[in-house]
Amino acid sequence: MYLESLLELLPGDLSAGERSLIERAYRFAEAAHAPQTRRSGEPYIVHCMAVAKILANLQLDTATIAAALLHDTIEDTPVTLYELEETFGKEVARLVDGVSKLDSVPRVKDGKRVTEKIKPGNEEEFLRKTILAMDQDVRVILIKLADRLHNLRTLDSLPARRQRAIAQETMEIFAPLAYRLGIWTLKCELEDLSFPHIHPEEYQTFKANLEKYREASEPKLLAAAERLQSELAAHNIEAEVCLGDVRFYDLHTRMKEKNLPLSQIHNLRPIRVLVNTLLDCYAALGVAHELWRPVEKGFHDYIALPKDNHYQSLHTVVIIDDSGFFLNLQMRTLEMHQHAQYGVVSRWLFRNGAQSDEMFERSVRYLHSLLEVGSGVENAVEYIDTIRADVLQDRIYVITPQGHVKDLPKGATPVDFAYHIHTDVGHRCRGAKVDDKMVPLDYVLRGGDTVEIITAGRGGPSIDWLNPELGLVKTRRALARIRQWFRRQDHAGMTALGRKVITRELRRLGLNWMTHENVADIFNLTLDDLLVGVGSGDIDGFAIAKKVLERENGWWLNLVGADGLIVHLAVCCNPSHGQAIKGYQINQREAVIHQARCPEIAHLDACDALDVRWRRPNDERYPVPITITAHDREGLMRDISTIVTAEGVNMAVLTMETHNNIATFHGTMEITSVDQLIRMLTKIEFLPNVREAHRRTVQYHHNGNDKETR
Ligand code: MN
Repeated sequence: MYLESLLELLPGDLSAGERSLIERAYRFAEAAHAPQTRRSGEPYIVHCMAVAKILANLQLDTATIAAALLHDTIEDTPVTLYELEETFGKEVARLVDGVSKLDSVPRVKDGKRVTEKIKPGNEEEFLRKTILAMDQDVRVILIKLADRLHNLRTLDSLPARRQRAIAQETMEIFAPLAYRLGIWTLKCELEDLSFPHIHPEEYQTFKANLEKYREASEPKLLAAAERLQSELAAHNIEAEVCLGDVRFYDLHTRMKEKNLPLSQIHNLRPIRVLVNTLLDCYAALGVAHELWRPVEKGFHDYIALPKDNHYQSLHTVVIIDDSGFFLNLQMRTLEMHQHAQYGVVSRWLFRNGAQSDEMFERSVRYLHSLLEVGSGVENAVEYIDTIRADVLQDRIYVITPQGHVKDLPKGATPVDFAYHIHTDVGHRCRGAKVDDKMVPLDYVLRGGDTVEIITAGRGGPSIDWLNPELGLVKTRRALARIRQWFRRQDHAGMTALGRKVITRELRRLGLNWMTHENVADIFNLTLDDLLVGVGSGDIDGFAIAKKVLERENGWWLNLVGADGLIVHLAVCCNPSHGQAIKGYQINQREAVIHQARCPEIAHLDACDALDVRWRRPNDERYPVPITITAHDREGLMRDISTIVTAEGVNMAVLTMETHNNIATFHGTMEITSVDQLIRMLTKIEFLPNVREAHRRTVQYHHNGNDKETR
């Protein structure tokens, strides 16, 4: 009988009650879905059975299996939640209800409350619900993942466009979710099934190449595994040596990331050494390293430092022959292996294992901690973005001085780390040490870094942390906390800070003559609104600088031949970019640009004519005079040139003088855009000991003396 194939997968010690629950659920689902067929033409129950079997293979409990059989009844048939509760009890009913709710959002339509399916492209909503559902029961998510897996396996009966959409959604949401829950097998299968639909050609080429290479490498792998097995036996280490599966998409991603040809992927299939105890892992490692030469930097101890999804194993890479054939070895205990394959699901595999429960709790706690963000985030979009970005990003682990491992999204900085430890540590963060060396706050943390945060006794975050151009904060979570801090300042505090920031930006641009009112006009805001906007972090320094520079002075980037002069466009002919022009200097510091055919030119003195033209794409670089003042220190020039070089900019130092230990550089930077100029000046100003970095302009003083800003 059809049902038998499912019962066979369940443990032999099933009670009569458990057995009957499964049987009843099967009959109920079969009857409820009776008129329905899948697109493939099969009866609908085939899908319900397949989902139940996937979960039975993962050894989940009978309530989950029953719920899997019933998972589409509420949504797709007239069956009600009440009916399920009456027939199968609260637990099963709640699971089915949970799965149905993941897919739909309640709305009010024509005055009535209805639920609608979440539309494609609205994955954020799904994700939010998923994390919330985890609080109720993680088994809901597991049923959903199994449902998705079977839908992917039977994707062929759908039209091509739907196939692609489902595959895309799987890659973006479901596979990362399975990874988060540590269910590696599920994650890989979801990815491998989606891959051909998203990049069909890439997939075909890759597959063909892989088969070819695999033919050559497989015998070597098998021989090596056998050799290792007997060597371990000779050392009295009880172990099972086996080959891991080929994971297409995982392999493909790693190759692309490292830009490697297939032959260089040494872990096409890893060789796994499964042992009984933790000590045996290290003993087996020793045996392998005695047998073959390990590759430098190929060793990772994920037992001492588990990955962020709690994966544990010893990894090493060895060379087994003169042709440079690499092997990837993984040593782990049986329990670690179960965790590696099944993640949170191993909770049911080791029904009595306290360790599994702890791991499960940690996974759920982690996902849950993301929900806390809600309190610091003003609107729903920001909130969902936060969760999405922080859940789905690749992650690294770093270590506190006390030896605790913290996981952060890739690209995180010391400031992110500080906020990860505690909001208050974040607010008071003033500096950081990585592996005992001082690093700048925009340092990008790497896996394995030991990070120590240097805090001030009190005080708050710097408003510059909110400036995305500076790259000081990458996690949405930290940004939300910082924003919250500034938004909680009182009005006086905000306006005072706003004034400070605007003054600083104007000074940096050499536009000291502008008033705050002028800036407010440019932004089309009242002065008070501008100050509050800036002081609360809603308008950052970069935005001010960019807007002011573009509005007041924007064309200096577009014009060649009027360097250092304040340029006006003549009102009589109002020249615009691309038109033939002529420039005339009207005094020491100002020039006027006319159209070349403007009749007014006849009244001007040819001696004052300037050789001006519009900037062309090939002379994109614009020399900007700059001044930097700093308390002199060793390595200062080097630090400055590192920033400048990173932007690909030429800098010439014209003069450099030191008075009372204060060094002043005058020079020029050849820049390509307003953004670049502001970014470099701001970054230079952030260097230790630097007092100021600003653009030098000719400035008019009312006493009649023109003077350069210094
Ligand atoms: Mn389904």
